[in-house]
Amino acid sequence: MNARREDPHHAGGSDVGRIRSGNEDAYLISPPLYAVADGLGGHSAGEVASRIAVETLQNAAPRHADAKALGRAVRQANTAVITAAENGRGRAGMGTTMTAAVVEGTRIVIAHVGDSRAYLLHLGELQQITDDHSMVADMVRRGTLSLEESRHHPNRSVITRALGSDPNLVVDTFEVDAAPGDRLLLCTDGLTGMVDDPLISRVLAGSHTPRLAVESLVGYANDAGGQDNITVVVVDIERGPGDPGLPAAAADARSAERGAARRWIARILWVLLAAALIGGAAWAAYSYARGQAYLIEESGVIVVYEGVPGDFAGIELHWRSEATTVTTDALDPITAARLKAGVRTDSLQDAQALLQQYRARAEESFAATPTPTPSTP
Ligand code: MG
Repeated sequence: MNARREDPHHAGGSDVGRIRSGNEDAYLISPPLYAVADGLGGHSAGEVASRIAVETLQNAAPRHADAKALGRAVRQANTAVITAAENGRGRAGMGTTMTAAVVEGTRIVIAHVGDSRAYLLHLGELQQITDDHSMVADMVRRGTLSLEESRHHPNRSVITRALGSDPNLVVDTFEVDAAPGDRLLLCTDGLTGMVDDPLISRVLAGSHTPRLAVESLVGYANDAGGQDNITVVVVDIERGPGDPGLPAAAADARSAERGAARRWIARILWVLLAAALIGGAAWAAYSYARGQAYLIEESGVIVVYEGVPGDFAGIELHWRSEATTVTTDALDPITAARLKAGVRTDSLQDAQALLQQYRARAEESFAATPTPTPSTP
């Protein structure tokens, strides 16, 4: 499934690294669809999980930049991994991360679960566009761990969301506007655990073709120790038929022009544009936040918020909607850990539906406890 056909606009590669005996990662290049998956489960089960996930994604994914449809395809892949384990393929408890993208011109939609990542080299600047679903990333978001500490933390590979366990898996989905000449990178933690962002940025900006970028990134990860399987997909973003902006000739000459001078001009233009856009962006962020919701643990119980966690340029974009009596103690540890960081949904209605599921689970576990004792501090 890993296409052998060489196209100068995209490339992928997967390497076992220097420590592991097998490669449990998988990747998919099936334009406009791209994905990486990092299997877990040991005894080759991770390999089964990542392969099933990628195969299901290929059959189920939309051929257009439709974020919700891509999210549904990832949920289908989740169901396929769960069903496979139930039917004796692989092992019970196997799972996989998945970071998938559909690229249509300069529109990129992403669906993401786990600690594999998507990055965009946008106008010469590297942006990580996915949030890791991992214990250390949660701690960094809460401010209890620095980014640097998280790179060496003993639990850095503990993930809080994966395909293969929760039938109600929440998939992050979103759309990103790129520019012609940008580069999209999808990768597993075998790259990001070994190579820091500044070096990733330099390699992406300085490699003449995606193929050279892939080989170079895998090489750097192995040079740094290759402690895990390394999987990398690089896609050059081209001008789409509906995109405004650069004339076709400029887009065609993109790789030749990819030089320091062009990046500086882009950077200056970007600063000028940014000033004009901040007003619009603040309104867009507010409108976006109004459509979102999330559940989060506060003092041991689940609280429902409208909006998004954190802040935008110092402005908080969330509004407390409802404090519940559902205690996170009564939930499984993975769900409880996710709730500490906040579980985002696409609407208040979805948040209410998810809350009902958690409430039912909490009540079940309460009923299953033979001598229920109230939780006391
Ligand atoms: Mg890995």
